[in-house]
Amino acid sequence: MATTAKKAEEVAHASMFDAVLARLDKAAELFGLAPEVAEILRHPKREVKVSLPIKMDDGSVKVFEGYRTVHSTHLGPSKGGIRYAMDVNDDEVRALAAWMTVKCAIANLPYGGGKGGIKCDPRKMSVGELERLTRAYTRAMSDVFGVNKDIPAPDMGTGKREMAWLLDEYNRVQGEDSPGVTTGKPITLGGSKGREAATGRGVMVASLAAMKKIGLNHKTATAAVQGFGNVGSHAARLLASKNITIKAISDHTAAYYNEKGIDIEAALKFVASNGNVLKGFTGGQEISNNELLTANVDLLVPAAIQGVITSANAGDIKAKLIVEGANGPTEADADQILNDKGIVVVPDVLANGGGVTVSYFEWVQNRMGHYWTEDEVNAKHDASMAQAFENCWFNSQQYKTSMRIGAYITALKKLDKAIRYKGNY
Ligand code: GLU
Repeated sequence: MATTAKKAEEVAHASMFDAVLARLDKAAELFGLAPEVAEILRHPKREVKVSLPIKMDDGSVKVFEGYRTVHSTHLGPSKGGIRYAMDVNDDEVRALAAWMTVKCAIANLPYGGGKGGIKCDPRKMSVGELERLTRAYTRAMSDVFGVNKDIPAPDMGTGKREMAWLLDEYNRVQGEDSPGVTTGKPITLGGSKGREAATGRGVMVASLAAMKKIGLNHKTATAAVQGFGNVGSHAARLLASKNITIKAISDHTAAYYNEKGIDIEAALKFVASNGNVLKGFTGGQEISNNELLTANVDLLVPAAIQGVITSANAGDIKAKLIVEGANGPTEADADQILNDKGIVVVPDVLANGGGVTVSYFEWVQNRMGHYWTEDEVNAKHDASMAQAFENCWFNSQQYKTSMRIGAYITALKKLDKAIRYKGNY
């Protein structure tokens, strides 16, 4: 009992930003990063917290906490999504912003990193309340955002609908049309073809690349995908389209297992007609989320939330390959356990970079005022993702380290140059 309480307390105090710094420090040491450059990266450039009073549908007024952190602008304007969730806090947003800096550098984009969020439960709010909240947040952050300054996008709990409100409110404040101030917009408002599926697509490309490296034949491989939102559902669909047998899927309501493989198209149809939740799906037997994570499959794709692979369950994972669709699904103290077991982990900062890569293509198209076909976007995405994977693999081999640390080194090589060239410290 006492141990459980202690564990719970440790979890409650576990800092996500510390987890980022733990990996950054390890990579910095191996790479030999100058201490002053490391010190700069340990501190976010700007952190903004706002209070947003919102009139609720029942006439009451609720005050919400909103955040935006710009971690780095060394490689270009800061880029990163906005998350609506109850666990949003300054530490989480700071960690996610730092991950965006690393992710954009790995994906070779001319962007720094940022992230925002509002502490709220979007599932319990009406569309009207969400619109008022998104507009209030945008007004409060209108001096932070900017096409060449800080460019938001969707993240957990937000999507193209929120980006449309954000764009409209930003344009009202500025008095001019700036489609490139946000990405992940509806296509009619300047969104890019291929953006919605892009993160899942990147997970597929990274999975196939990793399978090739470790000699796993994707035509006979099996997988479990945790999360069936924007990342997990597209990842599952695209992996299945490459003949990978998806044995288990889940969302926040339920997890299902089918030895012969889950019919992903049927699961997608079911979710669309079932209020966007998997609970009640009959294409597999119901299992627990921990059973999904430890299922006997070749590939595990955690594509739901952070902190699901911990020192408590890492030892039970049977997959040979983990491809992180979510941000931060593996806690820092589980890294060593996975390494010792010889499990190859394609880290979040590489594996889910497909989303921000196509966000970049959206921003480029907005600036050109000329739009590409879906095939053009996908081809550019696949080439960019494959190159990013090779760079991280190369650095993990060269520095004789995990792919995660190899990926951080890939980012540090670029960030180190940019920080030195710019100087001013
Ligand atoms: N929220 C996504 C991520 O964590 C996308 C960010 C973006 O497109 O700017 O990578």
